Amino acid sequence: CGIVGYIGKKDTTKILLDGLKELEYRGYDSAGIAVLKDNKIDVFKALGKLINLEEKVNISAAHDYHLGIGHTRWATHGKPTELNAHPHLGEYSYVVHNGIIENYKELKDELIQKGHKFVSQTDTEVIVHLFENYNNKLNDSTLAFKNTITRLEGAFSILLITKAEPSKIFFFKNGSPLIVARGNEEEVLFASSDAPLIGLASDVVYLEDGVGGIASASYIEFFSDNYSWSTLPTSKQFAQK
Ligand code: GLU
Repeated sequence: CGIVGYIGKKDTTKILLDGLKELEYRGYDSAGIAVLKDNKIDVFKALGKLINLEEKVNISAAHDYHLGIGHTRWATHGKPTELNAHPHLGEYSYVVHNGIIENYKELKDELIQKGHKFVSQTDTEVIVHLFENYNNKLNDSTLAFKNTITRLEGAFSILLITKAEPSKIFFFKNGSPLIVARGNEEEVLFASSDAPLIGLASDVVYLEDGVGGIASASYIEFFSDNYSWSTLPTSKQFAQK
């Protein structure tokens, strides 16, 4: 339902939680964030109101994460439970997803046969396992992400983080909205609508369907419809707000 993401030096958990609050009006049944520091990912999830998530974060989160992703869920596949809340984990990567993966059953069967263990009832969980399946084989996160996207059918916007590339957020938009923005310092923000970005972003791109890429603090690489990578100067890519 709602997506936020952040790379930068500010308090990552605060930016993600504030962003999710701006998306609350859309409705949700659960919420979660995954935040990365050095090569460690911490995840916090809670059923119900954001205050429940905030309490968990306040008890045990660090304050020096350098990137993270967050989600408010409106369940389509799998009951509203903490286990089904996003972000979803593989072995070393996390994903948040808005929309529906129509072919998740086939993908799930295929991945189970390959030895992947699933813990949720969501359609979303296949994304992270598919990514790791390709990454384990190819040892190339970019190619793994591209291959993953080509296998997905349905409407989806996705943010993915992985210990294999601990300074990056992988993103893709198809059907559900996703915005990427630059902040004032070396920082990048993501959101599924512009409310969380107001006051934080200087330049924004409303991604078109079929567009995704990889973001790090200082650089964003976009790819286009046919999944070939194009590296364009960010000043060209970002329309002035
Ligand atoms: N289909 C996903 C799920 O049920 C995402 C739902 C959403 O957009 O919040 O978990």
